[in-house]
Amino acid sequence: MSKPLRALVIEDSEDDTELLLQELQRGGYVPDHARVETPEAMSSELKARAWDIVFSDFTMPNFNAFDALSLLRSTGIDIPFIIVSGTIGEDRAVTAMKSGAHDYILKGNLKRLIPAVERELREARVRQERREGEETIRRLAYQDPVTTLPNRARFRELIQEAVEKAARDSHSVGLLLMNLDRFREVNDTLGHGLGDQLLQQVGLRLRSALFTPDIVARLGGDEFGILLPHLSAVENVEHVIKKLQEFLQAPFMIGGIPIAVEASIGVALIPEHADDADTLLQRADIAMYRAKQMASGYALYTQEYDSYSPERLGLMAELRDAIGHGQLLLHFQPKVEVKTGQIVGNEALVRWQHPRHGLLMPDQFITTAERTGLMEPLTDWVLNDALNHCMAARREGIRLGISVNLSARSLHSPHLAEIVERALTAATADPRNLTLEITESAIMLDPAGAEKTLAILNGMGIRLSIDDFGTGYTSLASIKRLPVDEIKIDKSFVSGMLDDQRDAMVVRSVIELGHNLGHTVVAEGVENREMYEFLASMGCDEAQGYFISRPQACEPLKDWFAVSPWKIDAPA
Ligand code: C2E
Ligand code: MG
Ligand code: MG
Repeated sequence: MSKPLRALVIEDSEDDTELLLQELQRGGYVPDHARVETPEAMSSELKARAWDIVFSDFTMPNFNAFDALSLLRSTGIDIPFIIVSGTIGEDRAVTAMKSGAHDYILKGNLKRLIPAVERELREARVRQERREGEETIRRLAYQDPVTTLPNRARFRELIQEAVEKAARDSHSVGLLLMNLDRFREVNDTLGHGLGDQLLQQVGLRLRSALFTPDIVARLGGDEFGILLPHLSAVENVEHVIKKLQEFLQAPFMIGGIPIAVEASIGVALIPEHADDADTLLQRADIAMYRAKQMASGYALYTQEYDSYSPERLGLMAELRDAIGHGQLLLHFQPKVEVKTGQIVGNEALVRWQHPRHGLLMPDQFITTAERTGLMEPLTDWVLNDALNHCMAARREGIRLGISVNLSARSLHSPHLAEIVERALTAATADPRNLTLEITESAIMLDPAGAEKTLAILNGMGIRLSIDDFGTGYTSLASIKRLPVDEIKIDKSFVSGMLDDQRDAMVVRSVIELGHNLGHTVVAEGVENREMYEFLASMGCDEAQGYFISRPQACEPLKDWFAVSPWKIDAPA
């Protein structure tokens, strides 16, 4: 059987080369060879093409085997190097082998050549396979299989390297941790296959937003890490965040469905917040948690945030008990009719009075509830408590409706109607007093399923509201078919509308189109009189926000009702 062999021959004698080739052919090889006798020629042959083996004479006028060997080593190419020489003393042969030659053959004893070639080619193959195996293991250990981005282990190493380099060159390093809000909902509703596609696309967009030295990694679940290894100015971080947010803004087309992705980004810096990789990661994580509550979608670490990382404090396990053990409570935020200044309803917002961590906000545990399958008992509890408060207040003459938020998971739960029905019956509440707020993005995850559920709830006489409207890229036209009563313009537009023409335009058109469809339009996040008046001038129906009242517990809210400048129905 003929075996092709790409042989680089370092030899000043053409005759000796010929003898070598003949011997190889006798052994069944078909040598494809080049003969060189200077380091330059060897170098350029090594660069020009791939070789299987090197045969080298021991001494030549312009070259020798030791130099040839070190030249080969310097290229990093690992192929057999066999010395074929007329004269070589035992001691020099030993030195040559010690410096890495694989074998030496005397020109007078060429019959040793073929067995040596075979053995060395075999061993080179073994070495090659081992290298590939190690490479695969390394890749598996260091790469996220879904996105092929570096994984958490690799990311940590890269941070470590960047931190060491920054200490030497005294520059800053930025670490961004990014969590995709509502990714779980996508995964649960559309399935893992499409969930993975979304992660891949997010990875690609993040990558394309950044410069080459910056690193994007997937740290697991819905979490990505971005390392900016060389920050010339700290202000640049904000610039990068804005750019990332911009790149994520257009919806992702996943299985033909446009999916809007919002991200919360936590930022920590070296040397400002940490001087080692682990502390840096931990602080960025804490900031990310905080970012979930920021309208801007990002937060730069400060020490005050340390108490805001409940999930990291092992909260997951405690939530189940919290629901059954009276640690949850509702705060209520009133809604007023803009034209009259009349309070027309309250929104129930859940809080967790944690025995050690104090009062926790929904953004700190709703995701946890979804992850741990606790959304159903949580929704059940909120509905019951909200309706009980509502009915108790009505008995005292405060005749207001109550709004309850539903997560995507609840909206798409087959038990929803049953849970709502039971809560209404238990509180002997009129369904018209209950408004269910559903976010636009939750509807969009499965518009057909949502339409069915909303029709059932509407049939039960419950009011329906679309929350955070404007962030989900649905057009008002596409919600035309949904039996909703109310649209709440997302607070991000409301908070921007005085300074940003585009935000003002969104607010104005949601109001106009909402009215055309016969819906009540509510603005959330109204923080001052100027905003309130601007909304009034645009004909917005209702307003909610800190300008009117922050969310408050039931008792303080009742006291507030008594003294508030906003009108409330006289007791009936
Ligand atoms: P949301 O339904 O859009 O509620 C409005 C959020 O904006 C509340 O945050 C409220 O405190 C805050 N807010 C009200 N007025 C202003 C203002 O003038 N300026 C600013 N910057 N913020 C204002 P909160 O209570 O932290 O709730 C956050 C989100 O958590 C809610 O957004 C809602 O989606 C969710 N959530 C709250 N309670 C529940 C619940 O019982 N079940 C479910 N599934 N989700 C809930
Ligand atoms: Mg709401
Ligand atoms: Mg909202």
